[in-house]
This record gives sequence, C-alpha cells and structure tokens, in this order.
Amino acid sequence: MKIADVRTYRLSCDLSEPFAFSQWTYRRRETLLVSVRTDTGLEGWGEAYGPTPLTESAVREFLAPLVRGKDPRDTEALWRLLFARGIDYGSKGILVAGISALDIACWDIKARAAGQPLYRALGGEPVEWVPCYATGFYFGGDEPLERKFPTEAERYLAAGFRAMKMKVGLGVERDAALVRIVREAIGDQVQLMVDANHAYSPVEAVELGRRIAGLDITWFEEPVSPLDVEGYREVKRNIPIPLAGGECEYTRFGFEPLFRARALDYAQPDLCACGGLSEAMKIATLASVYQIHVTPHAWGSAVGQAAALHFYAARPSHPASLTPERKLIECDQTENPLRNNIVKTPIQFQEGKWRLPEGPGLGVEVDREAVERYLV
Ligand code: MG
Repeated sequence: MKIADVRTYRLSCDLSEPFAFSQWTYRRRETLLVSVRTDTGLEGWGEAYGPTPLTESAVREFLAPLVRGKDPRDTEALWRLLFARGIDYGSKGILVAGISALDIACWDIKARAAGQPLYRALGGEPVEWVPCYATGFYFGGDEPLERKFPTEAERYLAAGFRAMKMKVGLGVERDAALVRIVREAIGDQVQLMVDANHAYSPVEAVELGRRIAGLDITWFEEPVSPLDVEGYREVKRNIPIPLAGGECEYTRFGFEPLFRARALDYAQPDLCACGGLSEAMKIATLASVYQIHVTPHAWGSAVGQAAALHFYAARPSHPASLTPERKLIECDQTENPLRNNIVKTPIQFQEGKWRLPEGPGLGVEVDREAVERYLV
C-alpha cells in the first residue's frame, strides 16, 4: 500500500456572534483538513490546529512530498522521517501541527485497513461512553456576563453535563466574582474548572487561586505563560487547586520538562498540534511515569474530536486501581459549524457523554459536499 495523493482543505465559517477569551476575539472558525489517499483506494483524514494559510503551506509544500509513495501504515517511521526533516527549523508550532494532520490520517488508514476502530488499533479496550466536560463561558456579547453565565450553565446542565469549564482572565476581582456566580448556578455536585489561557503572572494567578480555592475547582488551566515552567511550579506550590496545561506544547520533547518539574496535574496535548496520535501516545506514556492525567485539548472539527476520543480511550495511564479512573474529555460548546456539519454522522452525544465511535478508523465519514461549502 502506498500514499498516492495528499490533499489539503482550508475550511472557514463566520460566526453569528463573535466571542472572546483572554487573548483575542473569535469572529470565525477555521481549520485545515488533510486527506491522504492510497493506491488501493483507502482514504484517511487528519486535521491541523492553527492558522490555515500556514498549516496548509506546511503540509502541501513541505511535508506531503516527503510521504508520497510511502506505506501509510508505517506510522512510526513516517513520523520520524517528517520530524527529522523539520527539526532544524520547526520542532514546535506549525510544522508539528502539519505532521499531526498527516499522522492522524495515516492512523485512520491503518485502522481502516485492519477493519478496526482506531482505539483498538492503538491497543485500547472498548468503553462505550466517555464523560465530557463542557467548554464554554466565553466573554463578549451585549448581555452582562453576570446574567449570561447562569443561563449558559442551565443549558449545560440540561444537556446532561456534570462538569464545566469557564474562562477567566478579566482581572482577579471580576474573575473571582464570576466563578462564584457560576458555582452558585451549578450547585456543589457539578465539577467546575477555570481556564486563564495564560493571562496572568504567577503573583496574579496565586491571588486568583486563593480567592476561588473554596469553590471546589477541579483544575486551574494555563494560569501563566506556557513558556514559564518555574511560574507553574510557583503557582502550584501556593494554591491547593490542581493545575492543567499543555495545549500550547508540542511533542514528548516539549512535555517531558513540564512533567519532570511536576508543573502540571493534568496535561492537555492537542492531537491536531502536538504531533498526532503517534506522539500523543508517547506524551501519555511519559505522563504515566509521573502519574499525571492526560486529557486532550480538543477545539477543532469532528475529525480532531474523533482523534481525541480514540486517543483518550487508548492512552496509557498510571496508577491502576479497583476504583475506575475519573475520565473527563473536553467538549467544546462554542459555535462551530465545522464540528458536526462536515461529517455524515456526528459523534453521538448523550447526557454529557460521548459515544466512542465503533466504525473503522476514526469512525467518522467526512462529507465532501459539506467540505466544499466551507472551503476558503
Ligand atoms: Mg484551554
């Protein structure tokens, strides 16, 4: 089996209402899908996280010529080839996002060729339903957040979510007040996480952490700059809330120093950025040595979402226990037509849980007509 063709699809869709977080305002959603076709007619799909003019050029101009003619089932050899070829100028960022898309597509083909769902090809056992947390509570809109957030919480509760993640980063005072409002709206039986998207200095993050420590926060995500490992440690030493992070990190080489420093309690590699399935499994292996729970960041289309789910079901974890691990995977609740509209059947969701796809490969079928509709 040989790779005959690699195609890239830049997808974009304007939002009906912009929304913001601590770093910028989203006015549209965009992503890059990558299709890999073999000489036997099998096709696999992958996705790259990041600005699509850049990821497309990385895949089309630089990476695709390196994989044409190769066997897509040789995922490890292909990953090594692509990473080695780019390491001098792209060991993190866009180039690794491009590798991620190709790696996911090759795993999709490999599992389809074996007639297996991807989680099985990765060595995982079946778990029917995977509990999710709702990612929402963004900023923006005309309504004051003090009124908007409780309404939003109601919606997630009605959808069956028993865990939710809210944005912070509006200043310690305002954040603390809004976290209290959301906690009061959801009661004390629902898990609540906060995410600053690295808006704070360690001093500010500690101050916010202390103010919300009594509100039973499951984790504080990206409290400080992803470039400041010592900053993470400082925050961790000074507040009783577990820390999460890693959506801006790449490959085992990027994650290992964070693990060794014990900077994180939850590591969040994005399958479409960190190096794909091949690399995420290695990141999870390293994390298991440090007993860090890996739960992927997932913010893309149905393709990236499926990759994240299969990975989460199959990833190595440690320690073992008679009590089942408390699983929680991200379920983005913001407006994103690319999430469900580009596949023939969206991943099944019920009562705050996702059903692990059982079809071959990623278990989602990309709808070409829909892809054409969102093409840039
Ligand atoms: Mg985040």
